[in-house]
Amino acid sequence: MTAIETTATADIGVVGLAVMGSNLARNLASHGHAVAVYNRTFARTESMMADHGDEGNFVPSEDIKDFVASLKAPRVAIIMVQAGRGTDAVIDQLADLMDEGDIIVDCGNANFHDTIRREKDIRARGLHFVGTGVSGGEEGALNGPSIMPGGTPESYARLGPMFESISAQVDGEPCCMHVGSDGAGHYVKMVHNGIEYADMQLIGEAYDLLRRGLGAEPAEIAEIFAEWNKGRLDSYLIEITAEVLRQKDAETGKALVDVILDRAAQKGTGTWTAQNGLELGVPLTGITEAVFARALSSSVAQREGSGTLDGHVKDLQVEDRQAFIDDVENALYASKIVAYSQGFQQIEAAGEEYGWDIDLGNLARIWRGGCIIRAAFLNDIDEAYKKDPNLPLLMANEAFVDKINAAVPSWRRVVVMGVEAGIPLPAFSSSLAYFDGIRAERLPAALIQGQRDFFGAHTYKRVDKEGTFHTEWSGDRTETTMS
Ligand code: NAP
Repeated sequence: MTAIETTATADIGVVGLAVMGSNLARNLASHGHAVAVYNRTFARTESMMADHGDEGNFVPSEDIKDFVASLKAPRVAIIMVQAGRGTDAVIDQLADLMDEGDIIVDCGNANFHDTIRREKDIRARGLHFVGTGVSGGEEGALNGPSIMPGGTPESYARLGPMFESISAQVDGEPCCMHVGSDGAGHYVKMVHNGIEYADMQLIGEAYDLLRRGLGAEPAEIAEIFAEWNKGRLDSYLIEITAEVLRQKDAETGKALVDVILDRAAQKGTGTWTAQNGLELGVPLTGITEAVFARALSSSVAQREGSGTLDGHVKDLQVEDRQAFIDDVENALYASKIVAYSQGFQQIEAAGEEYGWDIDLGNLARIWRGGCIIRAAFLNDIDEAYKKDPNLPLLMANEAFVDKINAAVPSWRRVVVMGVEAGIPLPAFSSSLAYFDGIRAERLPAALIQGQRDFFGAHTYKRVDKEGTFHTEWSGDRTETTMS
């Protein structure tokens, strides 16, 4: 490590001044922090200073050595560059220039496995590494994101107050907390994105049902979503759904949603969440179905080749318009609770697997503002975990149980209607199947255990006595006690 003799005046620094980095730097500066800024290509730094240099106290550097030297000790440098190799390159440059106790913060969308690896490497060099999830896109970065830092408590003591000052605020509380050690911050950001996938898919299915069931135009359906946004579904995603459905295409005069190609893209965090759910053995049906639904929408050759398949569909019969709308709202609410319940269960399981002690109630609180899944009912989730931090099943908690139970008849009606009418409802129907699976007294898993013992001598347990058993399937079919 190289100590550099120069005047250190900046409270914090940002490396990478593309859209996210420059907005985060401006947010920090406008909250009174002196911010060192550096970008590999100096023109970007110059352009940011020309456009926004008067918004606060910026300390620009053309050279990364000068950037590090301009930071007050213990130094804090945020990396906001392209995820992957770009991040590794900048971490290396900073680590070579920094001193013991300094803090490198990665605010990019890193995979938590990378963050665990990087934290270990950087810790071995005497520095802190803080993988931080940041949600809210460019608007959030500028005006108040939800911030999820991992890393050590010592690094949070230095960094936390600055992050808390620039995060979104809800009811006077910052949407930022120390999530846990090493990769915990990037982990919860990943699950946040997974829940976002599920939420968006569920909203899409609700829209499809309403559109086909009511034969209504997008602008009319926008009004239904706007109305829902005044109730228990009050959330950013419901709000923007109404905005998107209202939008007219200037060129054709049609609803914009009708001229947008129906192939949903993805950048990977939903897939990471689903993969990790499989690794941990958590039944993450809502998020995983949402990832698959995007993949199906983009399966161009398969969709084009499906023309000869006959759905034998029935016409959707909606006799009572308002009752149907209420049914869809109930199904959406219940399925949404399933997705959140599964996501929080996954975070709890990850805590055990990776050694994190994540406060799930507080996590729900910091998602109430700044981020894409911000929603009123996160207050209910917080309340549920406050009452019982070891809650085994969020959706069965008293904060939700009556609402879910009341929604079940609607939920079933809507799924049946969708099945009969040939409307694909992967997230609605798999959420209902999860609900029925969780509440079932007996599952056909008993038969699966019998099959496994038959072909692989995998053994089984019995309901009426302790021990492990095997039946001699290819012999006289007597049962042997294995242990
Ligand atoms: P970006 O397009 O992902 O990356 C461009 C920035 O990375 C530029 O500053 C570029 O510098 C720098 N860079 C790339 N490779 C580099 C290298 N090898 N060494 C040094 N610098 C390098 O930028 P972004 O959209 O602002 O996103 C930044 C990070 O935030 C990403 O990890 C992204 O996933 C995450 N994120 C983005 C959003 C969003 O809504 N956009 C939301 C949350 C998180 P040059 O100018 O020199 O090319």
